[in-house]
Amino acid sequence: MDTKTFKRSLNQSENYHRKGFGHEKDVSGQMTTEYQSSLIQTIRDRNYTLTQGNVTIHLAEAFGFCWGVERAVAMAYETRQHFPTERLWITNEIIHNPSVNQRLRDMQVQFIPVNGDVKDFSPIEAGDVVILPAFGASVQEMKTLDDRGCTIVDTTCPWVSKVWNSVEKHKKKDFTSIIHGKYKHEETVATSSFAGTYLVVLNMEEAEYVARYILEGGSRSEFMEKFRHAHSNGFDPDRDLVRVGVANQTTMLKGETERIGKLFERTMLTKYGPTTATDHFMSFNTICDATQERQDAMYQLIERPLDLMVVIGGYNSSNTAHLQEIAVDHGIASYYIDSAERIGPGNQVEHKPLDQPLTRQTNWLPEGTIEVGITSGASTPDRVVSNVIEKIFALKASSGDDM
Ligand code: SF4
Repeated sequence: MDTKTFKRSLNQSENYHRKGFGHEKDVSGQMTTEYQSSLIQTIRDRNYTLTQGNVTIHLAEAFGFCWGVERAVAMAYETRQHFPTERLWITNEIIHNPSVNQRLRDMQVQFIPVNGDVKDFSPIEAGDVVILPAFGASVQEMKTLDDRGCTIVDTTCPWVSKVWNSVEKHKKKDFTSIIHGKYKHEETVATSSFAGTYLVVLNMEEAEYVARYILEGGSRSEFMEKFRHAHSNGFDPDRDLVRVGVANQTTMLKGETERIGKLFERTMLTKYGPTTATDHFMSFNTICDATQERQDAMYQLIERPLDLMVVIGGYNSSNTAHLQEIAVDHGIASYYIDSAERIGPGNQVEHKPLDQPLTRQTNWLPEGTIEVGITSGASTPDRVVSNVIEKIFALKASSGDDM
């Protein structure tokens, strides 16, 4: 498919909307009531620190809802208001937060059913309104919905669209897009649908493997096995790694994306020499500001002598997992939870250690005076964060000084 031409014609269609519908004022009041918190505002006003009893909370200076997420949720609310009687669908979770997704269900926004790993678009009919979430949708999904005569409300974050533009540029110049991301993540699935030839690398280790292959060659079959789910159809490492451009899932660790970019730049420079290096390597800065700010704030937070960190966000939220990774890398006891309901009863918590399944831990809050660092991913409302903080205060208060 000529993705660029399709996207251009979709942009001009009267059934395609990328902006709100003029109900901003109503929706902003509704979102403030549902998602904001006065406790969080108090903590912000007190230089991101609050002490109650023997607990001091240190909040990261950038955390929670980013503007792209806030924009997407507001657009979904506006869509409901604007199409009060139409059947409303969403192709995926609007953002990776269970409470926000539940709120949309309560508003009769239906999620497109999934059988196994495959979405079933058969219940969608002409005239239905379909919302695309903040991290976008694949171009094939957009085409399916357009062909069915649906109204499409596209809440894709402009930062994500910027990455799509980058891979379109790679494709135009016949470069392979090396995408730093998780090949199964919805955003990377969408990005790769706009790419021509592509390869998805998860981390530095995989990037170094590819760079070595470029420089020294290696076993083609081992390469194909290693990346069996992570490349375009017909990908051939011996043919398709001669000209490469780097793109990223916007929520990956910023430092790692930068290192991967530099690695491929160096690799092509070594292989082809300085005079023709630009014929073999292309890169655009597509690291999202919000991801960068949250990660920077986390690095700043962990400079404090914390007893523990609580990282709050949906368990399928890539940017939240990366915040936890920073705590783990610095040897800080960290608890990744998606809501205050994971805490209790008593001094226990159900949490998700890095790359492991959920586990229950007792006596997670140490006895006596404690300093707790708190942050949350870009899809987490302030209300969820304040519920967690209140629960920690209450738990320590109820057990007195002996806890
Ligand atoms: S994290 Fe960045 S790319 Fe993702 S929705 Fe927020 S602003 Fe957009």
